[in-house]
Amino acid sequence: MQQLICENLSKIQHQIELQCVASQRPAGGVSLLAVSKTKPTESIRAAYACGQREFGENYAQELAEKARILHDLSIHWHFIGPLQSNKTRLVAENAHWVHSIEREKIARRLSEQRPPSLPDLQVCIQVNVDEEETKSGVSMIDVPDLAQAISEMPRLQLRGLMCIPSRTSSDTQLKKSFSLVQASLDALKAKGFPLDTLSMGMSHDYPLAIAEGATILRIGTAIFGARE
Ligand SMILES: *Cc1c(COP(=O)(O)O)cnc(C)c1O
Repeated sequence: MQQLICENLSKIQHQIELQCVASQRPAGGVSLLAVSKTKPTESIRAAYACGQREFGENYAQELAEKARILHDLSIHWHFIGPLQSNKTRLVAENAHWVHSIEREKIARRLSEQRPPSLPDLQVCIQVNVDEEETKSGVSMIDVPDLAQAISEMPRLQLRGLMCIPSRTSSDTQLKKSFSLVQASLDALKAKGFPLDTLSMGMSHDYPLAIAEGATILRIGTAIFGARE
């Protein structure tokens, strides 16, 4: 398992470098978040042993449990899933990042519950870029107001935007969705928000996401294999 996970990680790192060159972006401007949801802690230890430090989870309970078991490692935990009010404390106390903010109320709870002994929680707003009814995230049009609200909250640092485009999208549609989110980030930056993060791109579409400006790729299957 160790060897396979290391091979997968280095293959992806290599692809990232190639795509950065092709997109005329500096190598090092794109980081890899290993999405370990549903995977055992042994798989996380294996990836850690090959140098991976950023891990993503999308269930609050699972993140807290894994953070407890793996507290001997210097992992940065990213919460990337839908977040309910009654689970914010678990995330505020265990995560370094939250990519999936979609409501002011959730951001406020995270702000209140973030222990002052920890560094500010780094957060992104999740954008429902394809305006899918079943998808998490705020509408593009609501992004500036939520960004303004979050930027005024203590113990949170707004870093940028996150999206999960529609599963059924063609490459052309994906490209369009990613570039819409990039344009939305640029618009916020133009208004003076100090943002630097576009969390987009998964196992099946990350090269396209890099071409459209992604700075954090969230990759699970291509590292750890299929989930059951
Ligand atoms: C599961 C998940 C991923 C990783 O998906 P893969 O297709 O396994 O790479 C990325 N982002 C979010 C929000 C996820 O829930």
